[in-house]
Amino acid sequence: MAGAGRPFILPAIGTPPEIRVQLCILKQLYILKKSGGGYVMQWETVRAEEKTETVDTGVETAGPSHFIEEIIEKDREQGRYGGRVHTRFPPEPNGYLHIGHAKAICLNFGLAAQYGGKCNLRFDDTNPTKEEVEYVDSIKTDIRWLGFDWEDREYYASDYFGQLYDWAEQLIREGKAYVDDLSAEETREYRGTLTEPGRESPCRNRSVEENLDLFRRMKAGEFPEGSRTLRAKIDMASPNLNLRDPVMYRILRATHHRTGDEWAIYPTYDWAHGQSDSIEGVTHSICTLEFEDHRPLYNWFLEALGIHHPRQVEFARLNLTHTVMSKRKLLELVRRGIVRGWDDPRMPTLSGMRRRGYTPEAIREFAERGGVAKRPSTADLALLEYYLREDLNRRAPRRMAVLRPLKVLLTNVPEDHLEEFEVPNNPEDPEAGTRSVPFTRTLYIEREDFAEVPPPKFFRLSPGKEARLRAAYLITCREVIKDPDTGEIVEIHCEVDPETRGGNAPDGRKVKATLHWVSEAHAIPAEVRLYDNLFAVEDPNEGEDWMANLNPSSLEILTACRVEGSLGEARPGERYQFERQGYFCMDPDSESGRPVFNRSVTLKDAWAKIQKSQK
Ligand code: ATP
Ligand code: MG
Repeated sequence: MAGAGRPFILPAIGTPPEIRVQLCILKQLYILKKSGGGYVMQWETVRAEEKTETVDTGVETAGPSHFIEEIIEKDREQGRYGGRVHTRFPPEPNGYLHIGHAKAICLNFGLAAQYGGKCNLRFDDTNPTKEEVEYVDSIKTDIRWLGFDWEDREYYASDYFGQLYDWAEQLIREGKAYVDDLSAEETREYRGTLTEPGRESPCRNRSVEENLDLFRRMKAGEFPEGSRTLRAKIDMASPNLNLRDPVMYRILRATHHRTGDEWAIYPTYDWAHGQSDSIEGVTHSICTLEFEDHRPLYNWFLEALGIHHPRQVEFARLNLTHTVMSKRKLLELVRRGIVRGWDDPRMPTLSGMRRRGYTPEAIREFAERGGVAKRPSTADLALLEYYLREDLNRRAPRRMAVLRPLKVLLTNVPEDHLEEFEVPNNPEDPEAGTRSVPFTRTLYIEREDFAEVPPPKFFRLSPGKEARLRAAYLITCREVIKDPDTGEIVEIHCEVDPETRGGNAPDGRKVKATLHWVSEAHAIPAEVRLYDNLFAVEDPNEGEDWMANLNPSSLEILTACRVEGSLGEARPGERYQFERQGYFCMDPDSESGRPVFNRSVTLKDAWAKIQKSQK
């Protein structure tokens, strides 16, 4: 080997232990090896004949699989926190959980389970103007559905308002906090910028007595909203803006969903979060990267108070192509009626994904196998769909469903003929058993499986051509019946070859096409909702108006579908593979005798294609 390059870390994008990328022009071999939270890339210049040589980069594959595990294992080795691991998931109840939250949930609950520790659920309910009980309830439902249990540890930052208040008084008494009269705008002005230090507020040097008095009166509701704040007295010249006397309390006249009108002042995230972690005995406070610059402040408060001091660790948020993940934007989609609600199957919310037919297992697999990285990256939506397909392929029962029906009359089958075929429920799962599928003279097939004038490479049914009815017979099309007024094909007449029961010709002749079908007399009418990406572009945040990136055809509703009679017993939430069509989940909108199905994902595997093209 010659000229091995300097390694650098790439964010983890999947699970293969190694990815090889050959850049032929440069004659360099790039080797990506799984390491910690990402991949280590090395490269070497190669001669053409050596280009497939494997090089040992010396990267350890056993042991911790990402940097947070490394940190935890080191802490345990050193006996920090007595070897305990205690995490928390801290959602703000101002929206429904989305797939990004699932990543954080899997990480926090997963690490606790892995190290025999605990994970709390803590609602970060410090902003009464945006929070609602509806969100609290949905968050609990979604976490349970994902498969995690916080046992009796359901906490609220608002449980600690009293303690936080007492601690604030403590800081005031120690000269570490003061009441400021600057308006929000002035506070911003005084803060300075990244290149200029801030200026001290004229109120900064108030006496302890005055501060205590003012703070108590703030609490008692004597001052108008926004007129005063309590600030930590740290350093207005700090290069870290978060340390320039951050606000701890603001005056807010809003009714809180738990504490009602008890409080006229509310703690900021920074003041509430670390102290809540400390009260709960959390050891590793895992949050996303935007809080990295808040870590010095997190530490400052805990040190100033001299209380249990958890370690804050940041990781990169999960982003997905074709998806917005900001709760503000998701709320706007709901409010403007662009989707039908938080649980619209096109939404990246867990409730939307559940309605769409996602399994918790597929989401967990996606979240866990995606790795944990320190650098922001965007996962391909196709990868998420790949995990769903893998899971459903294993367990979704197969059914036949005709989405756009075309009537087929089998001219040589008697009117009252009824024959039953035993069809396996799932070829991937022998335990799934079989079901009986009725076969009669009049059937429906998929309109697109027939072409009067077949285009090149059309191997399905056309006049004079033979095709297989799945598990039944070979049929040949003899006649096309059209509406005399519109010319539209309304029905086709076919002939069954009675020698081909089960779908195979005794003479061994090859018939390429296998079509799904349903018996007219036994099928039930159904509505099927086909979904496409909610956003037409990979990065919906690009351009001036993210709403302009919406995909105008993200939903197609088919109201005249005919599905196998056995689906009459299906229940909302059940998932099926409709043969040749994809995976579908029964929607709660279903009515007796008229089920509604959501297409969860197509059968076509875009991710496999991506991987194949990379080989
Ligand atoms: P938004 O910015 O849309 O309001 P948020 O991150 O503030 O979302 P929270 O309810 O505060 O929403 O999030 C709860 C937890 O989930 C936090 O610890 C947060 O870091 C984590 N989280 C949120 N979004 C993601 C994401 N895309 N990837 C990983 N973790 C996330
Ligand atoms: Mg947040």
